[in-house]
Amino acid sequence: MNTLSVAAQQASPAPNVSFEFFPPKTDKMEAKLWESVARLSPMAPKFVSVTYGAGGSTRDRTQKTVAKIAQDTPLAPAAHLTCVGATKEEVLQVATDFWKAGVRHLVALRGDPPEGMGARFEQHPGGFRDSVDLIQGIRDYDIAPGARFEISVSCYPEPHPDSQGWDQDIAFLKAKQDAGADRAITQFFFEPDVYLNFLERARAGGVTMPIVPGIMLQPNFNGLARMAKVVQASVPQWLHDVYEGTEDDPEARELITANVATELCQKLSEQGVNDFHFYTLNRASLAISTCRLLGLKPKAISA
Ligand code: FAD
Repeated sequence: MNTLSVAAQQASPAPNVSFEFFPPKTDKMEAKLWESVARLSPMAPKFVSVTYGAGGSTRDRTQKTVAKIAQDTPLAPAAHLTCVGATKEEVLQVATDFWKAGVRHLVALRGDPPEGMGARFEQHPGGFRDSVDLIQGIRDYDIAPGARFEISVSCYPEPHPDSQGWDQDIAFLKAKQDAGADRAITQFFFEPDVYLNFLERARAGGVTMPIVPGIMLQPNFNGLARMAKVVQASVPQWLHDVYEGTEDDPEARELITANVATELCQKLSEQGVNDFHFYTLNRASLAISTCRLLGLKPKAISA
């Protein structure tokens, strides 16, 4: 990227951003999360989401984290929620508890079994069948008088391991929209065309809700490659090449990661994309530098 492209980007409207975090396991991770939340707040994200561990394993920590964001920060939290390992009543109780804690936005997912992605998803006896069933269940449930959650869902610009083909995938995404989803967030990807081709398919299939690209900020390339293999996201050869030999140079990897993410967002922005969801891995610096390079200016915040 050159100064010209940064200047050109800064002349276009600043993007809308959102950030994803995971609930911390230890005191040290917790301190790091809250430091990251505080540093990212001035970027005025549309929302910040908190994941729900495989098999619902982080239920209490997710709840504690979103409740603290709702109560102690000016940010709008979105709580991820899955169908795994729980009855419908239990899942809806978790949603109700989120609502009571001040959370107004859910990311509704089928989820993976505790063994992780790749393991076969089994519907819990008495549980939701899939993400469409979950969205429908949330929409039909009387959480509180006048309560309406904003609902985001996942989508896959490269086929998910359980995909049965594009036609079914797009029809399934449309079914999520018809069940009441307000927005889809994509799995991470590295080539703009992966997203743009998917967007075209989705629009042709009647999906009209916003489809926000999910941008991965993972400077550990080996970790990234492992993650991509599990979720079946393709890693282009040029990405292997730019990280090659940087194993012992974390600073270089950080700079590469911010550049790669910024260029991807800029190319998407040239095609009219103005919303980006960043997978932060609970680290602020990469998200801040990427947002700044995209022309976002920090705003004064009041808690
Ligand atoms: P879905 O989109 O519901 O389905 C996955 C695939 O199977 C799609 O290809 C879909 O077309 C197909 N499929 C599923 N059911 C049917 C059906 N009935 N008919 C036809 N096709 C069907 N996991 C967690 O455990 N916790 C999280 O917090 C979490 N957050 C995530 C956030 C985002 C933005 C993304 C992209 C993924 C997230 N995941 C999370 C991972 C997700 O749980 C896994 O990918 C899981 O395997 C699928 O759940 P889903 O809701 O994304 O799947």
